[in-house]
This record gives sequence, structure tokens and C-alpha cells, in this order.
Amino acid sequence: MSQGLINVAYIGATILFILALSGLSQQETARRGNIMGMAGMSIALIATVAGLVTGNYTLLVGALAVGGFIGFVLARRVEMTQMPELVAILHSLVGLAAVLVGYSNFLSHVEELTGVEKTVHDIETYVGILIGTMTLSGSVVAYLKLSGKWGGKPLMLPARHWLNLGLLIFAIYFGIEFVNESAQGDGLFPLVAMTIIAFLFGIHMVAAIGGADMPVVVSMLNSYSGWAAAALGFMLSNDLLIVVGALVGSSGAILSYIMCRAMNRHFISVIAGGFGSGSSSADVEVEGEITTISVEEVAAMVNNAKEVMIIPGYGMAVAQAQHMVSDITKTLRKKGVNVRFGIHPVAGRMPGHMNVLLAEAKVPYDIVFEMEEINDDFPNVDVSIVIGANDIVNPAAKEVPDSPIAGMPVLEPWNSDTTVVLKRGMAAGYAGVENPLFYKENTRMLFGDAKESLEGLFKAIN
Ligand code: NDP
Repeated sequence: MSQGLINVAYIGATILFILALSGLSQQETARRGNIMGMAGMSIALIATVAGLVTGNYTLLVGALAVGGFIGFVLARRVEMTQMPELVAILHSLVGLAAVLVGYSNFLSHVEELTGVEKTVHDIETYVGILIGTMTLSGSVVAYLKLSGKWGGKPLMLPARHWLNLGLLIFAIYFGIEFVNESAQGDGLFPLVAMTIIAFLFGIHMVAAIGGADMPVVVSMLNSYSGWAAAALGFMLSNDLLIVVGALVGSSGAILSYIMCRAMNRHFISVIAGGFGSGSSSADVEVEGEITTISVEEVAAMVNNAKEVMIIPGYGMAVAQAQHMVSDITKTLRKKGVNVRFGIHPVAGRMPGHMNVLLAEAKVPYDIVFEMEEINDDFPNVDVSIVIGANDIVNPAAKEVPDSPIAGMPVLEPWNSDTTVVLKRGMAAGYAGVENPLFYKENTRMLFGDAKESLEGLFKAIN
């Protein structure tokens, strides 16, 4: 394929990626956005393969087939509840790719550069491997945390900020060493030393972040993986990779900022670890009694209600109750009950988790509201139904200044007439904090798996 044609293909792919991002910003256009992204990636892949002057095509096609097959099987098998873990592990692969390409680039000396050009190329390689390694180890820890294999409590090493600073200084020192030594045809030692440091830094960075701050980590690693890809683009002199990496990197950074704002956290505090998470003790004093309710009583309550607000959380995803929620919503709306949804920005385990589930179950978009649009409406709501949500409806975030979720804005169903909470037992949420909502006078607990409870409710309201 001629260079001109490849450039045209790259520009086409870039435009498709930008359209994909803008499509993904709204639920109505998200599917179209996804298709654009897939088309862009296909064009990019074909143009890259066709543009190879020399190359081992058997190896290339073999790698594409194996990688594609594994991706296909994984994506088909993964449960909706495991999506965040899948995303985290995919980020780690981008990091790994950056590290491998960086090393192979360095060891094979493909480009015979001299002077400033060589220095710039060395810095690109060094930075690419640095970001790649941090993304790799950080994402693996994030995966372990999201899948519950690593506890949610932040790792608070003594003098951890000094430790981070020390690691940063060493990384800069080895960077200078690397550039100097590389000019003499060497440089492997500082590169390996930095890789080890960056690996430890990635682990420490994510391990130090408390449970409730994890959403920021997920989007931050998303951003890092973008920058790692951009660094790859510089190393390989591939413009498309630079553009795509920068798109992913900057959109991830914007998302991290939005998540921080939604959680009332300072970005720097979150990435420095533990700063913004208040005390590490998860003790919240609770007073009052638990009042349980039966499915029939809930049915009578919602049948007589005018305004119902549904607040879904991670438990709805676990129970796969979204279709049942959708059916109940349809039935109640037919009966003239105004059913709406209140979505917290960090509900579930990944940004937009609840929106994806509700869209999958065909809940109309126009009755799904963001937290800030709806929070003031609770005094007019007759019944709030909390389905498998916990941290995002925890009044301790407002009332207990030293709780790990202190300062995080939450949905406020306790201001409605009655709140019905669906959960299996009295387990705490992701941040490990007790929830005083369950003990309030106007709260009723409907214990059991959310899907089973909702199936019962569906029958009872019909
Ligand atoms: P939480 O994890 O706080 O609470 C979920 C609740 O669902 C639990 O208390 C659990 O209680 C209940 N539950 C679990 N399974 C079922 C089931 N089958 N049926 C009924 N109930 C069930 O979820 P929230 O959505 O309220 O809050 C999200 C939390 O996750 C926040 O702390 C957020 O910071 C964090 N987080 C969010 C990310 C994001 O990007 N959105 C990423 C990483 C973390 P029980 O076991 O008693 O049933």
C-alpha cells in the first residue's frame, strides 16, 4: 500500500475515533459511537498490516488470530459484574505492550539516530516504558481490588509520600543515566532499574487508594494506558497511535477529573493515596432498629404511590435484576405511577455501570436522572426503592466527618416518605462503612437476592 493511501486511511481512522468518542458521550448515540470505534480500529489495523514493507506475515496473522480469539472468548464469557475487572486487566495489557515494544526498540536499535534526535528518541523510549510499567502493575492491583482478591482498605505505609517522592527522584536520576549511557551504546542497567522502580510505584500507588476512591483509579489507569499508547506511537513513529493514545489519555484524564468532582475529592490527593479518604477506620456509629417489610407490603405501597424513585447500585448488577426492574417500571407507569431513576456517578464498579444495565433492559432514557438533577426532588417522592446500593446512599458521607466516604455527595432517599432497601443481609458496601440509612425510622428492609425480591414484587403488583 502506498504511503499516501496509508495516510488517508490513518486520517479516516482518526476521524472515526473522534466520532466514536463523541457518540459514546450520550446513551442514545453510544451504540453508533461503538460501531464507529470498531470501524476505525479495523481500518487502522488493515492499513498498518498492509503498510508493512517487510515483515513476517505468518507471525503477524498468527498473533492477530490468537489475540482476537482470546479477546472474543473473554468478551463473550465475561459477566456484566466482571466488566470493571476486565477493563482493568485490558489496561494492564496496554501497559505491557508499551514495555515490550520499548525494550525491543531499545535492544534492536532499529533506528540509527544521532545527536538530538537520538536523545529525543531515548527519552521517548524511557518515558514509554515508565508509563507502561506503572500502568501494568497498577492495573493488576486494581484488578485484584475490584475482584475482591485484595482488600479494599488503603495500604498506609509510614512516610508513604516520601517514599513516592524518593521513587520519583530515582526514576529521574536513572533517566539521565540512561540517556548518557545510551549515547555510548549502553543503558540497559538504568532502564531495568527504572522498570523495577516504576513497577513498585504502580503497585504502591493503587494499593494506597481506599475502596471508595477506586472509581478514580479505574479512570486514571484508563488515561495512563492512553499515554502509554501515545508513547508507543512516538517510539514507532506512528502518527495514528500518537493521536489515538492522546485521545484515550486525555478523555481518561477528563473522566478522572469528573469522577473526583462527583466524589468531592482532590485529584492529587487521590493519586497520592489516602489523603482524601479521611480516617482509615471504617467505624460509623449507628442507632435505631431495623424494620423489615414483606414483598406484599411493598406492592401495596408502590401501587398507592404517585412518585417512585428507584436507586440502583452494585447489587442490582450482581443479581442481574435490571430486566425485572424494567418490567416493574413498565407496569407501574401503566398504572399512572411516576417511576424515575436516580443514578449516582460512582454507582456500581465502573463509570456508567448503571446506565449500561438500564439501557440493556430498555428502560427509557428520559426517566433516568443524574444525582444532581434529582436529589432535591426526594421530599416529593412517596417511595424510594434502593436496589443493592449502599455507599451511594450512605448518610454518613454527610454526617460523619471522619468516615472514609466523608464529603462524597450521596443520593438522599431518606428525605422521601419511605425508603425500601433491597439487599441480602447487613453487609457493608464497597468502602466497608456501616450505613445509618438502614436504621432510620422511615426505612424498610426487604432482605433477599434483589432479583428474587423483584420477581415477587412483580407478581404482587399485577
Ligand atoms: P456498594 O458496593 O456500596 O453496595 C452494594 C450492596 O449490594 C451491598 O451492600 C450488598 O449487600 C448488596 N448486594 C450485593 N449483591 C446483592 C444481591 N444479589 N441482591 C441484593 N443486594 C445485593 O455499591 P454502590 O453501588 O452503592 O456503591 C459503589 C461503591 O463502589 C462505591 O463505594 C464506589 O466508590 C465503589 N466503586 C465504584 C466504581 C465505579 O467506577 N463506579 C469503581 C470502583 C469502586 P448484601 O451483601 O448485604 O446483599
